[in-house]
Amino acid sequence: EFGTIGDELGMGVYVVGGFVRDLLLREDNFDVDIVVEGDGVKFAQILKERYGAKISPHEKFKTAQVVFKDGFRLDVATARLEYYEYPAAMPTVSISSLKLDLYRRDFTINTLAIKLNSKEFGLLIDFFGGQRDLKDKCIRVLHSLSFVEDPTRVFRAVRFEQRFGFQIGKHTLRLIKNARRLNIFDKLTGKRLFTELKLILDDRDPEAALLRLKDLDLLEVIHKDLKLTEVVLDRIRAAKGVLSWYELLFKPQKPRQWLLFLLNLVSEFSSRSIKGLCQRLDLTGKNEVLFTKLREEAIKVASILDRESDVRPSKVYRLLRPLPLEHQLFCMCLGKTHVPKKEISRFITEYQDIRPHLKGNDLKSLGIPPGPIYSEILEKLRDARLDGEVETRDDEIDFVQR
Ligand code: ATP
Repeated sequence: EFGTIGDELGMGVYVVGGFVRDLLLREDNFDVDIVVEGDGVKFAQILKERYGAKISPHEKFKTAQVVFKDGFRLDVATARLEYYEYPAAMPTVSISSLKLDLYRRDFTINTLAIKLNSKEFGLLIDFFGGQRDLKDKCIRVLHSLSFVEDPTRVFRAVRFEQRFGFQIGKHTLRLIKNARRLNIFDKLTGKRLFTELKLILDDRDPEAALLRLKDLDLLEVIHKDLKLTEVVLDRIRAAKGVLSWYELLFKPQKPRQWLLFLLNLVSEFSSRSIKGLCQRLDLTGKNEVLFTKLREEAIKVASILDRESDVRPSKVYRLLRPLPLEHQLFCMCLGKTHVPKKEISRFITEYQDIRPHLKGNDLKSLGIPPGPIYSEILEKLRDARLDGEVETRDDEIDFVQR
């Protein structure tokens, strides 16, 4: 249908980038990017009128995010026709706007496009040898200044290489090494670096990607103290194990994978190094708290649990409850004895859902005047339940009356 709308508006419409790449690789991809030769915002407005889709247009860049009623998302971009003035008598020529749009992309494998207009529907457009590189399993940039233009591409190259089991091409590898030598990363903002790091740690095999980054001497670009020591590698592997275990619990709350890996990656950092990392990645507010205060808490909790062999469930509850899920899982990776693993898994699977039978209203019926004491009583009841001191509702009533 996108093609038909393009036909009506007299615009070329193409699906481009990661979606086409993954289509040819037979990988799932639910992010659809469309490029139109014409006004992308106008195109999105038609989708809004016809399908009641929600759109967020950016007039300045002529792009729009579109969300359909069933949740399907679409990014629409505009390929602008650009005119090049040639000197002297040469006429002004227009270069295919789609080609220019694709030329700005990171790697050849991301430059494939499929035409959607009804005439030529399904035509695969390959200006830069993307199909060949997909077949050769090769990550290649489009031109030699690519990494200078945008240093985040270095991290993207490693991410795609490791995700698909590809190889970074010889020339591209040389460009990465040059980029590293010339230290073009200084101008890379913390925000963009953080975004790419998160994408790597959220991808299929962060351990492999981290080893590759180390191999290319790129971990230091993030922070000079980032080292893949045996301890750190063990924790990264522990994190992988903990994530697979957690997934099998089918809990509604999903952990942020990147966060658990990053916590483990910097688990040996001094607070000074952490400060440097927060500065480099431009972490502020909530994100900063995750790596400062909450990280310290988690390390403390893990060492407390390591020291205790017979810890009461109510204490485990009190230690873990204030921590985000990722920090709870981080404690499991940090544990030196089996206690943290065992107790934290019990907290996650049992303790955290335990509530007293009695509610505020019950306390009222028992003749206790309402006030802040209610939450104190309810907490004590929960602790007693956790520790097996009370079991039934009647036990709880006895407990309160005592
Ligand atoms: P993923 O499966 O990880 O989402 P993707 O290829 O869709 O992969 P995105 O990060 O969503 O990756 O980017 C969408 C498209 O935008 C890519 O296909 C790529 O061509 C282009 N792109 C993204 N970042 C850059 C960049 N830094 N430089 C050039 N092109 C980029």
